[in-house]
Amino acid sequence: SVPLGYFAGIGKASRTGVLIKGSNYLEVLAGIDMVLFDKTGTLTEGKFGISEISGHNGMAQAEAILIAASVESNSNHPIARSIVDYAFSIGFKKEDFLAVRNYREIPGEGVYAIVEGNEVALGNERILRGLSLSSSPKGRSKIYLTVGGKLSGTIDISDKLKEDSKKAIESLRGQGLASIAMLTGDSPDVAAAISSELGLDWYQGGLSPEGKLEILEKSSSAGCKIAFVGDGINDAPVIVRSDVGIAMGRAGSDAAIETADIVISDDSPLQVSRAIAIARRTRSIVF
Ligand code: ADP
Ligand code: MG
Repeated sequence: SVPLGYFAGIGKASRTGVLIKGSNYLEVLAGIDMVLFDKTGTLTEGKFGISEISGHNGMAQAEAILIAASVESNSNHPIARSIVDYAFSIGFKKEDFLAVRNYREIPGEGVYAIVEGNEVALGNERILRGLSLSSSPKGRSKIYLTVGGKLSGTIDISDKLKEDSKKAIESLRGQGLASIAMLTGDSPDVAAAISSELGLDWYQGGLSPEGKLEILEKSSSAGCKIAFVGDGINDAPVIVRSDVGIAMGRAGSDAAIETADIVISDDSPLQVSRAIAIARRTRSIVF
């Protein structure tokens, strides 16, 4: 049977916006020593501003945007939504979008499709793999567009930290956790900048969903008890496999919200340390 104190703890957490799906998670959370965060949509807003779009190899800027938005309208990744919104903001309408065939999305990399008979790819530098584009501009927060195997456009995007991400890390720091870190599919450059701004212990960038899982499992077999916090977009497997999987409730994917052990209803990363505090207090009352 479950000690009554746990129900009090769960009730208390739910009133502050943290939904804990079972008393066992509260108990595990009290003994967590490592917190791993996803980046996009978890520590950052997941709403990308577009600072520059350029066409390359003879492609006009507007055409690059139209092709990019047509393909991205099939994706629910935050970058995809931002590119589609940008296309609308400069006057394109849904009915202007080009027909897209053979659409495929590779998590942590980008999207592929055939548009007007041409192979189109859109995503990070991984999509350039295999193309001889070594002299092409490479940089932080860049999305590359290739059409027919040629670099045809680059889109500079930027996200911003959530208002209380910094406080969230400071607050976890005050709880004496052994390690607070970030795993992201975004470029190592972007990961480094965010990590130093937030004062994380370590980070890893350029990760596929499988890469995130590998790091989780390595830390786990080294004996760490891990809470992973994500939005379920390209990190759902890690949410499932961590000791405590925490999902964002608003921006989070439906699958993540369903499989997570804990759901943060207002998407604030600060709730992680609140939940740990409640879990520790509950444990000290119960035992
Ligand atoms: P994070 O781990 O920070 O949450 P993701 O794993 O969701 O990031 O994505 C990692 C990277 O993969 C993005 O920064 C982007 O470069 C690329 N990417 C993923 N999905 C898309 C998409 N639909 N369109 C363009 N790029 C994408
Ligand atoms: Mg994410």
